[in-house]
Amino acid sequence: MQPILETRSLTKVFHRGSLLARDRIVAVDSVSFTMRRGEVFTLAGESGCGKSTTARMILGFEQPTAGEIVYGQDEERWHPKVWYTQRIQAVFQNPFETFNPLRKVEGYLFETVHNYKLASSRAEAVELINAKLEAVGLSYGEVQGRYPSEFSGGQLQRISIARSLLVDPSLLIADEPVSMVDASIRMSIVNLFRRLRDELDMGILYITHDLATAYYLGGRIAIMFRGQTMELGPVQEVLMHPRHPYTQLLRESIPEADPRKKWRGRITIAETEEEEYLRVGCKFAGRCPKVMEICRRQEPQLVDIEGVQVKCHLYVDKLSVKEVS
Ligand code: SF4
Repeated sequence: MQPILETRSLTKVFHRGSLLARDRIVAVDSVSFTMRRGEVFTLAGESGCGKSTTARMILGFEQPTAGEIVYGQDEERWHPKVWYTQRIQAVFQNPFETFNPLRKVEGYLFETVHNYKLASSRAEAVELINAKLEAVGLSYGEVQGRYPSEFSGGQLQRISIARSLLVDPSLLIADEPVSMVDASIRMSIVNLFRRLRDELDMGILYITHDLATAYYLGGRIAIMFRGQTMELGPVQEVLMHPRHPYTQLLRESIPEADPRKKWRGRITIAETEEEEYLRVGCKFAGRCPKVMEICRRQEPQLVDIEGVQVKCHLYVDKLSVKEVS
């Protein structure tokens, strides 16, 4: 499978405080991964781990402080602006915020067709819209003439996905797409992502705090903590045999994502988060049950253990370990 997206040591730094006493918060710290067509890649971790900031940089909403994002395949390199608008589409957390309650839902679909010149007549536009709605289990007849309040959260999320499919994207970024829909229909949307991955050969960058849905979607996963990748590998291996103490803890309990958090909003950093972001050595040392003296003074490197990358001093001396960064 050809790579469609690669991040190379992607880094985002924010500054807090006054000019005289400024803290430097590395919200995303040298994050590197590659995505291929037809692959799900999950960024997982609790609120404030840097996963959404990573996605915002890929979407062009934020400029990286350092590092590089490579869009497209070798033989099909696209300018980032083309990627932002056509090759990458995004589905956001709250479907009710995506649609204006006073505007008919079909207006958004026709607007996308018009903006990207996807049809030459209204009949052609209706045909295209109907095909994309059918791909998500709906039809144009069910949507025509109706307002957002006449749909459930799950239906609105499906319409939002259908809208993003209109341009035949190579990559779909889904930021907590099921966290605000009823539990009863959550799996049907996750199943829809699986189907889109298989039938449309689309890459899906799935951002979540919910490890159960990540496990079900498969592919590969990066567990993030305070801007850094702690563990990265095949999702089944990482979640069934977690090596990093943070992944082990995360598997047992993970705080709910804050639903008030806005996609485009500035990051907010709580006191404990700030302390962890600024920590020297391992960022997880303050909470780690296996912390050692070295962890408080030296940052561990990512090492490769049987195909899984782990950032932890527990593994650096193992004979089978090969340093990867
Ligand atoms: Fe725990 Fe040390 Fe590993 Fe960090 S480096 S996760 S503190 S054992």
